[in-house]
Amino acid sequence: MRIAVYPGSFDPITLGHLNIIKRAVRIFDKVYVCVMVNSGKSPMFTLDERMEFIRRVTERFGNVEVDCSDKLLVDYAVSKNATVIVKGLRAVSDFEMEFHMALTNKKLCPDIDTVFLTASEKYTYLSSTVVKEMAKYGADLTKFVPREIIDDIIERVSTGGKKS
Ligand code: ADP
Repeated sequence: MRIAVYPGSFDPITLGHLNIIKRAVRIFDKVYVCVMVNSGKSPMFTLDERMEFIRRVTERFGNVEVDCSDKLLVDYAVSKNATVIVKGLRAVSDFEMEFHMALTNKKLCPDIDTVFLTASEKYTYLSSTVVKEMAKYGADLTKFVPREIIDDIIERVSTGGKKS
C-alpha cells in the first residue's frame, strides 16, 4: 500500500491545495493531509478549524485522512507507515526551500522520499496569505478557495481575524 503525507499550514485550505490533494489521491492508496503545528506562525484559524475545513472539502475522497501533528515531519510519516511526502511547487521561489527540506528529510530518514507535484498553472499565484488578503478587501473568493468554506473566511475577516 502506497501511503503519502501532504503537510502544510492550510490557513486556510485553498483551491491550490485541493488541486494537489485531488492529484495525490490518484497516485497513492492513502493520503494523510496533515496540518503541521508551526510555532513560528500565528494562524488566523485554529488547528481544529483548519482540520475541519479540510475534512469538509475532502470528504468525497475515500482515501484521505485529515490529521495534525507537532512532531518532526519524518517521524509523523514513519508513524503512519508513509513512504512519501507530497509537496506542491508553485514557482522557482518555492524551490530552494523545498529542495533543502527534502534533502534534510532524506538525511533524517532515507526510506522516505519527497514527491513534488507542480502547481496547476491557474493556481501558481495562490497562497493562503493571498486568500486572507483578498478576503480583507472583500474580493470574490470563489476563484481562490473551495466554496464550502467561503462564509467562514468572510466571517473571520469581519471580526478582524479574531474568533468571535
Ligand atoms: P502556504 O504557502 O500557502 O502557506 P502551506 O504551508 O499550507 O501553504 O502549503 C502546503 C503545501 O502546499 C506546500 O507544499 C505548498 O508548496 C503547497 N501549495 C500551497 N499553495 C499551493 C498552490 N496554489 N498550488 C500548489 N501547491 C500549493
